[in-house]
Amino acid sequence: MTSSPIPPLMQRYPVLQEAFPVVHLATLPTPVGCLTQLEATLPVEGLWIKRDDRSAEPYGGNKVRKLEYLLGWAQAQGHPAVLTFGAAGSNHALATSLYAQWHGLRCHAILSPQENSPTVRKNLLGHLAAGTTLHPVSGRRAGQQRCCEILCEEYADHGRLPFVIPPGGSSPLGMLGYVNAGLELAAQIEAGELPRPDAIYVASGTMGTCIGLLIGLQCAGLDMVQVVAVRVTVAPFTSPEKGRLLHQATGRMLHDVDPAFPCFPFPEAQFILKDAQLGAGYGFPTVAGEAAVQAIQAAEGISLEGTYTGKALAGLVEDAENRVLCQKKVLFWNTYNSQDLTPLIQDKNYRDLPDDFHAYFTETEGV
Ligand SMILES: *Cc1c(COP(=O)(O)O)cnc(C)c1O
Repeated sequence: MTSSPIPPLMQRYPVLQEAFPVVHLATLPTPVGCLTQLEATLPVEGLWIKRDDRSAEPYGGNKVRKLEYLLGWAQAQGHPAVLTFGAAGSNHALATSLYAQWHGLRCHAILSPQENSPTVRKNLLGHLAAGTTLHPVSGRRAGQQRCCEILCEEYADHGRLPFVIPPGGSSPLGMLGYVNAGLELAAQIEAGELPRPDAIYVASGTMGTCIGLLIGLQCAGLDMVQVVAVRVTVAPFTSPEKGRLLHQATGRMLHDVDPAFPCFPFPEAQFILKDAQLGAGYGFPTVAGEAAVQAIQAAEGISLEGTYTGKALAGLVEDAENRVLCQKKVLFWNTYNSQDLTPLIQDKNYRDLPDDFHAYFTETEGV
């Protein structure tokens, strides 16, 4: 772990620094690069990548930026534990647990069923390494009930409630990580590491990433850079209303703490929510998504997955093939962890997981 300098948002608005304590998890800025080989196969003016897959060790991806603020808050407020939610293979639940325990916070994860995949199995085994207290539930309603029970039990046993982190870490607090990411990109553009993109393609699960980024770009004065959020979940996780709500709540939180932070209006023209890649739903692979995963692997040696980043890249490819990006510089934001989890999970046995999860390992494989 490296000690990070003051985050760019806090450099601009120093009042914010004291209000939002962080734990340092990420190595920032994450690199940017040109996808030369893939670019040659697509009608785009230029194609770049933002490597949030390399945001941290031992586990990268987009959740780390949010967790710096979420865990910073939980720790500063003296919570003994955190509680969060996700699907069985949730990258968010695993990242939260790994980094919470590192900082002395226990972690409860309430996990609901999802389509099976290698990532689901890897992440479940990751929980054995992290030491998560796992709570398998049958769905949303059962999850809410379990949440209430855990809160009561924790309060009875420890006299404190756990800090509750919403799915995907997408609260205004967690989104500060992506407001900073927008400002970080602006600094990389300024430094000539990449040209100013016309559009950024990013997966939208619980919307904290795309909306935080949007606020960061507004803050940097990059109003001409479009954020194209490729939807991989249904409402209420992703919807235009939720996007507006998160934008407003995050802006308001910042403005309340430091009135110098402007009340940005929701930038209608700058934000596009793309529906076409969702397929049969969250976690279900699509033909276009799988093709995109293979294309970037073959051209660039970069590994994506089918739930988020494959669909996000498929959204980019779709627009390129419809010839709307011929004169556009395009940035693909890689949100998927690329650190190898093998050292963490190689000696882990699925039989040590709660019984409800065993079917992911014994059933015929999904994809
Ligand atoms: C969680 C996740 C996303 C979606 O981010 P949100 O902030 O929930 O929209 C995208 N890609 C990967 C790999 C993720 O794990």
